[in-house]
Amino acid sequence: MSIFQEAKDDNCVMKLKVLILSLGLLVPTTSALASAAPSPGSKCSKSGQTKIYKQRKFTCVKAGNKTVWNKGVQVKISKPNNTQSNSSPKDPSPTLPARPDRLTLDNLDPYWTQRIAMEKVNSYLRSLNAIKDVGKIISSPKTPKEYVQTERTLLDKSVTLWSKYFMNENMKIVIFTNEDSDWADSALIEHGGSFPNKVSDEIKKQSQFNCNFGFATLADQGRTPIYYMCTDLRGRKSSDTHNTPHEYFHLVQQKLVWANGFQEFPVWLHEGSATFFGTAVGFFDDDPTGKKSLDFYKELYWQYDPDNTGVRNFERLKGVLSSISPEGAVKLYEPLEKTQTNNSNLHLFGHYALGAIATEALVAVYGFETYMEFMQDFSKRNDWKANFENRFGLSIQDFYKKLAPYLRTKA
Ligand SMILES: [Zn+2]
Repeated sequence: MSIFQEAKDDNCVMKLKVLILSLGLLVPTTSALASAAPSPGSKCSKSGQTKIYKQRKFTCVKAGNKTVWNKGVQVKISKPNNTQSNSSPKDPSPTLPARPDRLTLDNLDPYWTQRIAMEKVNSYLRSLNAIKDVGKIISSPKTPKEYVQTERTLLDKSVTLWSKYFMNENMKIVIFTNEDSDWADSALIEHGGSFPNKVSDEIKKQSQFNCNFGFATLADQGRTPIYYMCTDLRGRKSSDTHNTPHEYFHLVQQKLVWANGFQEFPVWLHEGSATFFGTAVGFFDDDPTGKKSLDFYKELYWQYDPDNTGVRNFERLKGVLSSISPEGAVKLYEPLEKTQTNNSNLHLFGHYALGAIATEALVAVYGFETYMEFMQDFSKRNDWKANFENRFGLSIQDFYKKLAPYLRTKA
């Protein structure tokens, strides 16, 4: 989530813009839900108990000294028009579809597009000399050494991948845990940066289930790039490897986009690209079939709630995607052309997942370096739609339309 906070000085009209680049990953939180449905993190009576709700099976698990509902798994339902979901869930090695010779926006293969996008990022990364130990990691005393090592490895990969576009030797990463509320509040004061709420409040909220949020920002003095990250002492999720490349890419965006005074940045580009790169860098070695990345996107589908009903529903976006027309795709993305501000609720339009799908299509077809040239174009011209058309050779409307068949495969 990107937030511009404006603090007005009474004595002058100068506006101080404090840029918060992201809440890396909004873990489903449950406090606003009054439904009797099992919602992740809410209390349940007995460990091991299960409940099926809206095509998800939830299990009651122990968390500390409480028992809470887990995030649930999707229950398979057969879809006659989708041959992939008809394959037996027990089949450990499904036959892969043939790899297309050449991918275009008119030919976004349901299986290979994501894989090819990830390969393009990682083959570029592997063509570079690895850079190590740039940036300082500051961790709370409670943060386990192995958590810090994991983040160091992910940070080194991220620094290397984007070294041609952004590098700052003074950057900092602050890592804390779900048990570090006071430490994290003090760290924000000591090391700088800003966050819309108290960090300790966010830790409390996220810790109902799993504390794994991050936010990238700039430290006040010297505008040092910095990101903060919560890690959970009760165990980390395998998808947490997404967070560091996601947050790091926000720092790259800060340099290429906002540092040049460009602030009209569509939220689908902003959060969607960070989400795509988070999976492309964080999951690649661990995701040979692309399933982990797709499942991760689908975990974010709950955010899609355009009428702001407050009910978390993973099926709603799937329903929209399953039969989406080219014109429907235009309507789906248009609300995501807005820029995230302090007061906007753009996540209600599914910017993380929909933006990630659009980004992976662009990277798969045009490659990592062309995508990054598009990001660099923001420093030259304050017109993202013209930049898009100039770089990719089609209008943004035509791009949305061409995404429709691919979006249907993500239902
Ligand atoms: Zn983000």
